[in-house]
Amino acid sequence: MIPPFEYKIPKTIEEACDLLWQAEGKSKIIAGGTDLVIGLRNGDQSPQVIIDITRIEELRKIGEMNGVLSIGAAITHSELASSSWVKKYGKVLSDAASEIGSPQVRNLGTIGGNIINASPAADTIPPLMVLNAMGRVVSKEGERQVPLYQLFKGPYETNLKPYELLTQVIFLKLPSDMRSSFVRLARREAMAIARMSVAVVFQIERGKIEDIRIAVGSVTPTPQRMLEAETFLKGKPLDEASFQKASHKVSEKMISQSGIRPTTSYKKPVVEALFIRAMRKALEEQA
Ligand SMILES: Cc1cc2nc3c(=O)[nH]c(=O)nc-3n(C[C@H](O)[C@H](O)[C@H](O)COP(=O)(O)OP(=O)(O)OC[C@H]3O[C@@H](n4cnc5c(N)ncnc54)[C@H](O)[C@@H]3O)c2cc1C
Repeated sequence: MIPPFEYKIPKTIEEACDLLWQAEGKSKIIAGGTDLVIGLRNGDQSPQVIIDITRIEELRKIGEMNGVLSIGAAITHSELASSSWVKKYGKVLSDAASEIGSPQVRNLGTIGGNIINASPAADTIPPLMVLNAMGRVVSKEGERQVPLYQLFKGPYETNLKPYELLTQVIFLKLPSDMRSSFVRLARREAMAIARMSVAVVFQIERGKIEDIRIAVGSVTPTPQRMLEAETFLKGKPLDEASFQKASHKVSEKMISQSGIRPTTSYKKPVVEALFIRAMRKALEEQA
C-alpha cells in the first residue's frame, strides 16, 4: 500500500519553491507521474508531500527569443513531438519524443520528468546533449543554469537538491543547414524502453563533416557525448570508411565506461551499426 501523503498543486513557480523548501527534503515533485507512481507503488519512494507542477503556466510553454528555444519542464512528449518550433529548431528532440512509449505515456510523460528521472535509457537526453541544452533550475536559493551533461551523477541520480525545481530546458536554435537524426533500438516496436540509442547533429562544409555532436543512450551509465568520435570525424569526408572508424571510437568509449560484460560481444557491433545508421539517416533527410 502507498503510505499517505499530502498533495499540493501550486499555480506559480514561487509557490512551488516555497512548498519544496518547507517540506525539508520530504517531498517529491510529480509531473506526468509515469515514473514516480511506479516508485510509489513499489515502495522506492515514500514522500510526505507530493507537489504537482502541471498547473504552473510557465512550465507549460515553448518559447523562442534571441535565437534560443526554451521548453517548459512540464511540456509532454506529445507536445514536443508536435511543436512546430521544436520540429524546426531541434528536430532531433521532437523525433525522439515521438518514439517514447505509447500515446498514453507520451500524453502524460514530460521532458522534465524524463530528465530528472535520469534513466540511462531516457530518450530525450541524448538529443538534448547534442543540442548542447542547459537546464534552468530554480529554488528559494535562486536560479542556476546547468549544462545538461553536468546534471547527472549516475544512473537514476542527478545533482538536483531536493528543494530544486527544473523549470526549463534551453538551447540555441539549430541552424537550418545542420543535419540531425535520432535512432533507437528496443525489444519491440511499442512500449519498450530503448536498449540503445544514438543522436547526432552535424554540418557539411564542402563535402566534409563539421561541428559534429554525437550522444548515446542506454549503453553507458548515463547518456554521454562521444567526444573522441566527434574529434575524429571533424574535417573528414562523408564516406563509409570515416563512419566505420568513428563507430569504433563510439564502441571503445562505451567499453571504457561500462567495462567488458557478457553483453559486450552483442552491444559492440550493434552500437557501431546504430551509429552508422544515425549518420546515414541524417544524410537522407533534407537539410
Ligand atoms: C509504459 C511506459 C513506457 C515508457 N516508455 C519510455 C520510453 O520509451 N522512453 C523513455 O525515455 N521513457 C519511457 N518511460 C518513462 C517515462 O514515461 C518518462 O521518463 C517520462 O518522461 C517521465 O516524465 P513524467 O512527467 O511522467 O515524470 P514523473 O514520474 O512525474 O517524475 C519523474 C521524476 O522526476 C521528478 N521531476 C519531474 N519533473 C520535475 C521537475 N520539473 N523538476 C524537478 N524534478 C522533477 C519527479 O520528482 C520524479 O522523481 C516509460 C514509462 C512507462 C510507464
